[in-house]
Amino acid sequence: MRCPFCGADDSKVVDSRLSAEGDAIRRRRMCVECNERFTTYETAELSLPRLIKRDRSRELFDENKLRAGFMRALEKRPVSIDAVDTAVKTITRRLWAAGEREVDSRLVGDWVMDALRELDEVAYVRFASVYRSFQDVNEFREEIERMKKVDSEDK
Ligand SMILES: [Zn+2]
Repeated sequence: MRCPFCGADDSKVVDSRLSAEGDAIRRRRMCVECNERFTTYETAELSLPRLIKRDRSRELFDENKLRAGFMRALEKRPVSIDAVDTAVKTITRRLWAAGEREVDSRLVGDWVMDALRELDEVAYVRFASVYRSFQDVNEFREEIERMKKVDSEDK
């Protein structure tokens, strides 16, 4: 770490501690040339990517929007808010972990589908019918038949 006072290339850490919030490490450093002290902070870079929409426009990922999407699909369904929050957090964490600057919104849509399939079948079909925009009733029926089959195979 370069010294901000004299520009020397080297400094040594004389103290390091976790910030009160626990999300940053604060380091006291001392320049080996001029002995001036300065502080640096180390934080994880948790910037969420932009979503590439179907029309190629970009939109900042919005956790509230994601939650609203879940709530819409789960309207009047017996699923707790806690379960929704967990699903939203899981998806947000996956986006952080991906570390990309831009992500295709379809990828997030697929994650939502996966989460809904686990949470509630009706909500899953509800979301899928909008998201996948089934071409006609037959396609919709096929999807339900497919789900029933998968379901019975599980048992
Ligand atoms: Zn210095």
